[in-house]
Amino acid sequence: MTREELFYSQKNGYDIIDDAEKQKVHDYCEDYKRFLDAARTERLAVREGIKLAEAAGFVEYRRGMALPAGTKVYSSVRGKALLLAVMGRESMDSGCVIAAAHVDSPRLDLKQNPMYEDTELGYFKTHYYGGIKKYQWTALPLELHGVVALRGGKTVDVSIGRDKDDPQFVITDLLPHLAADQYKKTLSEAISGEGLNILIGSMPDAEDGSDRVKLALLRLLNEKYGITEADFLSAELCAVPALETRDQGLDRSLIGGYGHDDRVCAYAELRAIMETENPRRTCVCILADKEEIGSEGVSGMKSEAFECFIGDLCASQGVELRHCFEKSICISADVCNGFDPNFPEVSEKRNNAKLNYGVTLVKFTGARGKSGSNDASAELIGYLRGLFDANGVVWQMGELGKVDQGGGGTVAMYMSKRNIDTIDAGVPVLSMHAPYETVAKFDCYMTFKAFKTVYAD
Ligand code: MN
Ligand code: MN
Repeated sequence: MTREELFYSQKNGYDIIDDAEKQKVHDYCEDYKRFLDAARTERLAVREGIKLAEAAGFVEYRRGMALPAGTKVYSSVRGKALLLAVMGRESMDSGCVIAAAHVDSPRLDLKQNPMYEDTELGYFKTHYYGGIKKYQWTALPLELHGVVALRGGKTVDVSIGRDKDDPQFVITDLLPHLAADQYKKTLSEAISGEGLNILIGSMPDAEDGSDRVKLALLRLLNEKYGITEADFLSAELCAVPALETRDQGLDRSLIGGYGHDDRVCAYAELRAIMETENPRRTCVCILADKEEIGSEGVSGMKSEAFECFIGDLCASQGVELRHCFEKSICISADVCNGFDPNFPEVSEKRNNAKLNYGVTLVKFTGARGKSGSNDASAELIGYLRGLFDANGVVWQMGELGKVDQGGGGTVAMYMSKRNIDTIDAGVPVLSMHAPYETVAKFDCYMTFKAFKTVYAD
């Protein structure tokens, strides 16, 4: 054998694809950028997902409906997670092909009693959601999205800061001139969690009394949304970076934006299932919530909402759910860390994912000797390797940092717990969990192509 045949060597993706495929990379990413700008929160991602799915022929699943091969259905989990399926030609007995991404991203949630006035300035108290570096969230334009549930059962949508004419919000930072004490603190202590208070206004109401700024702000909210201060108690309002998704780099090969983790994989699998017609096995696309806080809650991947939906599809064919799971495979579609030359010390170069080297399979995540990891089987990787190589999917193997550097998790272990063969795969990201993350267009497209190939097999 030749040395080329004997060695494992990787090529930059742009040395592999032709001009026609480069155009596909570009076109796909234009669509993805629009999706990301619309999907600012998990609720908005689900709403956008439903809109796109319905345009692609998906209908809302209703218990008892006929489900012949080729039927495209979706089911919303309380408006915060989305499950989609295209019924296969084979029975559910031969298992499903599942891709599971998440649509929640790190952000600042308003507390339940958030509003106060201090020194004639109005504020919202926040409690951060997911793993953030707190210092990154000051002096950053923010927008506000979410819902307020009123006493009578009515729900009001709130969205401020996205429209060009909308005001935005900010958490102020300390001027360097007076930061002598702050400089002595560690990075994690420099800005405290309770210090992440959002400035929301400064103009006092004309009426005499205390808290005149707060009163004026409540009047504004009441005019626009019909809410009072007590309504915050039953609200879910999130502050997210008011940053537009944009091309990055002179060559426009990168995309900067908020929430690539994990909407970049969510869009890839959504787009892949939308382009799937009459598959052999039933294809399932999951856009989960709550991954960033451990997949808990009714809309997270530990929830039986998933069993309920797939169980219904199985029941329509008289198949037992556990027999379906046993034969199913799942791609836990989540981002991984791309190798960052600014921080080479945290990675082991031979095993870390690189930008522009394609969709990244991650056999294991976890920390301290793979603890808390799914650890996919060699057999599943062998199957995907063959499939990807035969279908022009450029892929690589990744690892979340060097041994004992840190670690993390995904929904993978909650899928494999269900007796479903599972592996992590997704897009390498730079500045993961920062208010503004960076991905390479090539990898976004190859992740979509990977999911499409798996659904089609
Ligand atoms: Mn993720
Ligand atoms: Mn994450």
